[in-house]
Amino acid sequence: METRETLFQTAASVAAAGATMLRGGAFKPRTSPYSFKGLGAAALEMLAEARTRTNLPVVTEVMDPRDVALVSEWADMLQIGARNMQNYSLLAEVGRSRTPVLLKRGMSATLRELLFAAEHIMVNGNTNVVLCERGIRTFETATRNTLDVAAIPVLQAETHLPVIVDPSHAGGRADLVAPLARAAIAAGADGIMIEVHHDPAVARSDGDQALTLEGFRELVALIAPIARASDRILVAS
Ligand code: PEP
Ligand code: MN
Repeated sequence: METRETLFQTAASVAAAGATMLRGGAFKPRTSPYSFKGLGAAALEMLAEARTRTNLPVVTEVMDPRDVALVSEWADMLQIGARNMQNYSLLAEVGRSRTPVLLKRGMSATLRELLFAAEHIMVNGNTNVVLCERGIRTFETATRNTLDVAAIPVLQAETHLPVIVDPSHAGGRADLVAPLARAAIAAGADGIMIEVHHDPAVARSDGDQALTLEGFRELVALIAPIARASDRILVAS
């Protein structure tokens, strides 16, 4: 999320295209401390306004246990990012909230570690957890991460929790989003989460992997037949 206007424009566009949830970054974990870290608390109110306008439930990342109560007041779902998958005090805090959690796989985490991270949340009483495969670190450098397609059926065999895929962070390139999204849906993912920006060239975060609004519409058209057939969800940001 960068400005109110572009958020509302993006939200309206992805809603019209068929997204079923809206993800927007307010507190953003950045590799460099000098990068844009999001608008913070001010963006939560904007995100809630986008929900009112579109009727889409909203999900946003929480990075600090001290922010869990605040973010829960505004969001329908709390995202735990890859970098925090093993932040056990944060997992415990979202576990004590009653807001559903989107738990992203750590970039070097095994599936066993991901499942234990989910349990760290659930043992505290919050069993509404969705798992997200977002690519893992490998020796390959052509892609930002390597999408672990096998994670989908493996996790689904091990747990009843829904499994979604983030092809944007997995590939790190806009041209790879569609093929990776199709692979994810074909492999049985319960949903996908797609990074979208009204003008990726000037995005303050992750522009290389962001689809344009038109690109998102095209992606939905491409995967809708597969997704509809299996009653799967789409998430946009
Ligand atoms: C994100 O989804 O906005 C994000 C930062 O991704 P990850 O935590 O998977 O790197
Ligand atoms: Mn991102």
